[in-house]
Amino acid sequence: MSGSPAVLMRLVASAFTVAEKAGAIVRNVLHSGELGIVEKTGANDLQTLADRVAQQSICASLSKRFPKVTIIGEEDLPAEEIKDDLIENGQAEDILQKTCPAEYTGLKEEELVVWVDPLDGTKEYTEASRCLRVPPETQNLSRGLDPSEPLSTAPWLLDNVTVLIGIAYGGRAIAGVIHQPFYNYQLGAGANLGRTMWGMLGVGAFGFKLQEVPDGKRIVTTTRSHSNKQVTDCVDAMEPHEVIRVGGAGNKIIQLVEGKASAYVFASPGCKKWDTCAPEAILHAVGGKLTDMHGNAYSYDANVKHMNSAGVLATLRNHEYYISRVPQSVQQALK
Ligand code: AMP
Ligand code: MG
Ligand code: MG
Repeated sequence: MSGSPAVLMRLVASAFTVAEKAGAIVRNVLHSGELGIVEKTGANDLQTLADRVAQQSICASLSKRFPKVTIIGEEDLPAEEIKDDLIENGQAEDILQKTCPAEYTGLKEEELVVWVDPLDGTKEYTEASRCLRVPPETQNLSRGLDPSEPLSTAPWLLDNVTVLIGIAYGGRAIAGVIHQPFYNYQLGAGANLGRTMWGMLGVGAFGFKLQEVPDGKRIVTTTRSHSNKQVTDCVDAMEPHEVIRVGGAGNKIIQLVEGKASAYVFASPGCKKWDTCAPEAILHAVGGKLTDMHGNAYSYDANVKHMNSAGVLATLRNHEYYISRVPQSVQQALK
């Protein structure tokens, strides 16, 4: 490669290491036991110390290196001096080595918008933190999801947590990083925790093994903590063979690309642009699709409203089938 890598490649390479630093912050706050929980709009809309400090770290690190990029973070935080130890200066070398798609080589910093969800799945994060206070011998760290299990013994909720950094250009999600800070938690103390996935349109997606649900099987993944009748009616209308209820938009996209679910269905407002930008870019990079419940794309321009008011439908394949099953009542309600 000749010359310096394109701005977009440098931005994604930075976002990769910045997301990992944010993941370390998320783990450290959990292990400290002092979550500093604040209710935003209500008991199902929480912010913790981890959300706050991870966002400070991500935004300050990226804006230091890319001062002209527009960065929009989920949390409303007072402007304050960010401590030096929160700044991450690293860049993922292997991303810098990739060839930038021709259509993006000339992009300028000021044309890019970064959507940051410092901690996606905060509700589940706070619930999982409670289980860590249960004596280790009463935890079953290897068990799968069992909704009848008391939450105090549900450490698998940790896998619902992700750090999301999405990059948009011309209103489209074109690149994204998803970091899962507790990946491998089952291996216990001393394990190398966490993994980072990234993707870019025209380049592909990395950090996981792309797998599909067997053809003809419909496994729908949906919200665990923001459900209502409309959400469940719409899931039922898809005639799923199986329904999975888990936290986090990032986590549900991971389920799609790893062959654990065939559609992410959320027929309600509630998800915001920072929830879907990075996941959408990664999903689109491997041929999937994320739209509202009418099949329309969301725009990620800097000035769009934050709420994904018409819901979220994401699939790796057969998007049209799921769109065709959305009940009219849901379509009307999500206008
Ligand atoms: P969930 O699938 O419920 O984990 O939601 C995915 C993302 O959308 C998370 O960041 C949630 O916080 C957010 N979200 C969804 N519904 C709501 C809601 N009713 N209020 C606040 N945030 C929501
Ligand atoms: Mg979120
Ligand atoms: Mg969040």
